[in-house]
Amino acid sequence: MAKEKDDRKRGDMAQPGLAALSPFELKDELIKAAGGGAVERPANASMLNAGRGNPNFLATIPRHGFWQLGLFAMRESERSFAYMPEGVGGFPRREGLEERFDLFLRENKGVAGIDFLRGAVSYVRDQLGLSSGDFLYEMCEGILASNYPVPDRMLKLSEVIVGQYLRREMIGRHPFVGEFDVFAVEGGTAAMTYIFNTMRENHLIKPGDTIALGMPIFTPYIEIPRLNDYQLNVVNLNAGVENGWQYTKEELDKLRDPKVKAFFLVNPSNPPSVKMDDESLQYIADIVKERPDLILLTDDVYGTFADDFVSLFALAPKNTILVYSYSKYFGATGWRLGTIATHRDNVLDRLISELPKDVKKQLHERYESITTEPEKLKFIDRLVADSRTVALNHTAGLSTPQQVQMVLFSLFSLMDTPDAYKNALKRLIRKRKQALYEEVGIAFDDSDPNQVDYYTILDAEYLGERMFGREFVDWQLKSTQPTELLFRLAREARVVLLPGLGFGTQHASGRVSLANLNESDYRQIGRAVRRLIEEYVERFNAETGKKLDKTKVK
Ligand SMILES: *Cc1c(COP(=O)(O)O)cnc(C)c1O
Repeated sequence: MAKEKDDRKRGDMAQPGLAALSPFELKDELIKAAGGGAVERPANASMLNAGRGNPNFLATIPRHGFWQLGLFAMRESERSFAYMPEGVGGFPRREGLEERFDLFLRENKGVAGIDFLRGAVSYVRDQLGLSSGDFLYEMCEGILASNYPVPDRMLKLSEVIVGQYLRREMIGRHPFVGEFDVFAVEGGTAAMTYIFNTMRENHLIKPGDTIALGMPIFTPYIEIPRLNDYQLNVVNLNAGVENGWQYTKEELDKLRDPKVKAFFLVNPSNPPSVKMDDESLQYIADIVKERPDLILLTDDVYGTFADDFVSLFALAPKNTILVYSYSKYFGATGWRLGTIATHRDNVLDRLISELPKDVKKQLHERYESITTEPEKLKFIDRLVADSRTVALNHTAGLSTPQQVQMVLFSLFSLMDTPDAYKNALKRLIRKRKQALYEEVGIAFDDSDPNQVDYYTILDAEYLGERMFGREFVDWQLKSTQPTELLFRLAREARVVLLPGLGFGTQHASGRVSLANLNESDYRQIGRAVRRLIEEYVERFNAETGKKLDKTKVK
């Protein structure tokens, strides 16, 4: 493949041809170098793959709830038909559903998931003020999956509950005026695909338009705009390790340029795993006041791992598309659960209503098969329609069992007071980070309240300078290739990290996911990194005649 990717041309890679690979594909090369074979298998015990963002933990309680609810729903299905030994059941019945559910709970007292379900139903009734019978009915129908998802954007009560969850996690105590709509989608991945596509179909971004990206960033955000489908110009807003991975005002000021149509942000960031500080959030919100047409997209997949997280969606709700995924926090990548949320009064709908007449006429034709008033079709409902090429709008929507699990995850989190699950996860990843850095031999600065620690970046330049000074780093940069350290870690220590450069970091670095291995593995990775550093110090001493102490710990 002749894909020359300009950004990645800086610095030759350790092996020819690798410069064009995305970090996720380079990871496959690293796995091969680590002797893992072409196929990645977690069972390959001797390889330590810290390249994956996929967590090795998962939320058990709401899953128990899902299976118990499934058993109850099966009982409902079988009781609604005269018994048929051939295995034919019917739909659940609404009358008496709550009483039968209570009976089911009593019969299964002490079984895992039962207490959670009891709590969830009371929460829905007492805290959210919804009808518990209607809720149970939606859940039973949903888990039996015998109807198309209706409404297609999201099941009704499910949207309310998921909306409450997003409110708690993304908005918190920040003032928020008005309501927002939610579209349940197949993970953050589908959210991104759908949003790019619908923005283009509705002329909010056209080939040749400029968007801004908050760098470094989850690579698909770098790759999608470059595709032939989009052909967008990109302005990078860079955050660096020296500024605690925050954007400076000068970088954020790039958003004042009226050429910039949209700004895409991952917050907390991937890979640095730092949440945007309050000052920057406010600064962007102030820029939006000056530039009311600016579209913001914030991907807040990691928001739940941060302390006191507030999304850009809370500060600039009318301009912001909120993307969220259940993949990381609930250890649920296989479920494919994500959401897109937009405020009911938003810039997207306004910009669509202000499009030139001929464009509006064309869009009228695009959407007229699904509504008599296509002009009034909201951006979020256009996302739904476009997700199934408009013509299949009537069968759009996330599968109903997926929505049920999404609701149970949301309720679990809403009921997680005082943050027992949340704190357990934070403790888990932070202990892993501590173990890693202890072995590398540097005390990491833990005072930054914006650190999230789902990933950590081992930045050769930054660490090298802190430990052994500028001269050593300059020598190291001259005498090593950017991915050389990653390949040596893979070959010699069977440790796989992802290259930070692929995500748009300014220096050569390795992304260590703190989510997917055990603490002892992070110790082993830390030791491997340390050995490599010491070897470079020896080489430096030999070549320059200096006498750096390689055993130094900082
Ligand atoms: C993991 C990740 C996603 C993908 O989420 P899925 O829900 O698994 O598709 C999206 N955005 C970011 C920033 C991620 O790290």
